Amino acid sequence: MSPEPLTPLSDQFGRIHDYLRISLTERCNLRCVYCMPAEGIVLRPKSQFMKTGEVIALATEFVKLGVTKIRLTGGEPLIRNDAKEIMEGLCKLPVQLAVSTNGILIDKFLETFKNCNIHSINVSLDSLKEDRFNAVTRRNDFNKIISNIGLLLKDEFHLKLNAVIMKGVNDDELIDFIEFTKDRNIHYRFIEFMPFNGNKWDWNKGLSYKAMMEIIMLAYNKKVVKLKDKKTDTAKAFQIDGYKGTFAIISSVTNPFCDGCNRLRLTADGKIKNCLFSNNETDLLTPLREGKDVLNLIRESVWHKKRVRGGMETFEDFSAPELNQLNRNMISIGG
Ligand code: SAM
Ligand code: SF4
Repeated sequence: MSPEPLTPLSDQFGRIHDYLRISLTERCNLRCVYCMPAEGIVLRPKSQFMKTGEVIALATEFVKLGVTKIRLTGGEPLIRNDAKEIMEGLCKLPVQLAVSTNGILIDKFLETFKNCNIHSINVSLDSLKEDRFNAVTRRNDFNKIISNIGLLLKDEFHLKLNAVIMKGVNDDELIDFIEFTKDRNIHYRFIEFMPFNGNKWDWNKGLSYKAMMEIIMLAYNKKVVKLKDKKTDTAKAFQIDGYKGTFAIISSVTNPFCDGCNRLRLTADGKIKNCLFSNNETDLLTPLREGKDVLNLIRESVWHKKRVRGGMETFEDFSAPELNQLNRNMISIGG
């Protein structure tokens, strides 16, 4: 069966895809333990990756098919020399533009964000303790990132902080993270540790949504207010009564949110991935360079998206290394 022509980007389950995450690079100035393999990744020649104009050209094709929101991610998107030009090109498209970053270079991009109408910034912050944060990221940038988060707050950006919650690493900080939202307009998101190639995934290291909620309920009890989630939200959102900020849990491992999924990914080497967990990719960059049409390739890829987590429907499938290790490592997918 093939997709209907000239309909929104729908798959066989009727899910409409209007949100594209573009990875700008596989490189990063941090080495987070859950994302980047300890030995690093093999760097490939630049020619294999999208150039400035190619990012914009492929994004334009997705917009023709109904994409209305684009988030730039990576690797670390802001380390690309042409990150400013890419943002300036993309913000001419009729899309809501957003950025996920580790925060190190934010001060250099504040003006670009403002000029390009980029209001929504996601920053990874896995610990509020300097030593611990630097150990998780295998670098020493904690103070720079905290100072840059301050700049975003001062300028009233819509700020989400992300923490991958791991047992014995930062699970004792859940309440500290929530207290960080008390007087700050921050949405803190706690992510279940997910398996990707090379990240030595072991669910014994992860903390489930249920376990996180038990800790949170014990501390706050009736003060925990459930917020309304949109169908396409990947997180379940809450607020502590009276707090300025909010928090949420992303439970991709124990409770996937695939029913309302509206996301597509474009990797830095120009491949469309119809699901974060799928190892099925379609090359768009080569046909683009050959002057061929990519619209149908995009449609076909979306149409064949699996119902749940790239076909890994059960927790057993998802935990099986022979299945979950077929995918790329996170740094080269674009989270
Ligand atoms: N460098 C940027 C950053 O750190 O936000 C953008 C890319 S990063 C791959 C995007 C998100 O993926 C981060 O919030 C990170 O915490 C999350 N992530 C990476 N590996 C993960 C894993 N194994 N499990 C859960 N989340 C992960
Ligand atoms: Fe880099 Fe982000 Fe991955 Fe950390 S999570 S290694 S900052 S891409």
